[in-house]
Amino acid sequence: MHQKLQNIKNEALAQILSSEGREELDRLRTHYLGKKGVLNQIAGEFKKLDREQRVDIGRLFNDVKAAISDAFNSKNVGISGIPAGGPATSGSEIDVTLPGFPHPVGHLHPNTVVAREINAIFTGLGFSVADGPELETEEFNYTRLNLPPDHPARDLQDTLYVKEPEYLLRTHTSSVEARILAVHRPPYRFVFPGKAYRNENANASNTPMFTQYQGLAVGQGITLANLKHTLETFVTGFYGSSAKSRFRCKYYPEVEPGVGMDISCPFCNFKGCMVCKYRGWIEILGAGMIHPSMLEMVKLDPLKFTGFAWGMGLDRIAMTRYGINDIRALFNGNLAYI
Ligand SMILES: [Zn+2]
Repeated sequence: MHQKLQNIKNEALAQILSSEGREELDRLRTHYLGKKGVLNQIAGEFKKLDREQRVDIGRLFNDVKAAISDAFNSKNVGISGIPAGGPATSGSEIDVTLPGFPHPVGHLHPNTVVAREINAIFTGLGFSVADGPELETEEFNYTRLNLPPDHPARDLQDTLYVKEPEYLLRTHTSSVEARILAVHRPPYRFVFPGKAYRNENANASNTPMFTQYQGLAVGQGITLANLKHTLETFVTGFYGSSAKSRFRCKYYPEVEPGVGMDISCPFCNFKGCMVCKYRGWIEILGAGMIHPSMLEMVKLDPLKFTGFAWGMGLDRIAMTRYGINDIRALFNGNLAYI
């Protein structure tokens, strides 16, 4: 019996080693380790042995069986790169017992993600992305935007002055618009996302620092129809082709005429919800045709050149995108719960 087991082991190891392909290996496995395989047949003969022999042979039998199993497993790794027989690997090319890939820690800020997405839409329409200083002069923040020192609209914006009255933290990114008008010659199209500051207490819908996304186009023959088409293209590009939009008359000092743009509530689609206050519409931006006096300020003839401009709150757009109901969450260190 001893010799018989040794012979089986030697023969099996040699055959396993020289086997080629999975099929042959499977056949050998059945031959040696199968229910009616060589080893089980030999185990059936154990009952003929007396007790002492049985213990001795049993030990050898286990060693032989383990050696043959190991040989099968290492040969299998050579064929498929995967150990065979494990509960996790049978019939699968993926070893689920391996440690997983670590998740990257951190992600882009929601405002950054949204700004990049919107940039992609507008650059596709021929717009360039511009930037401007956050520490602004009173001239570019107010005067050149049709807001002379005695204009009542100045009181609507609680300005954070760095050195009154000349230097301030820009209260809107329209200051970039004033700078573009002063420097560039039409035709041109720009968008400019950026931070703005106002002396306000933080609550769920306002923060002293917030983010805006504005844009303008100036040239000859630009009309309100161009404004409408551009902004409708943005809405369907960003919110999906089923998004509806509408324009309402609004007053803004730097445009004439001014319009407010509403979109169908992306949360309830006209059914009514808390976000749209059961109106079905939410206002997302203010826009209009650039005021003739602003064009005159930069020596452009308003009878020859026209343009449109718009501004929207990037924070609010990000909030609608991610279902955030408190603007302060955007400026917390921990965004993990979003
Ligand atoms: Zn709604």
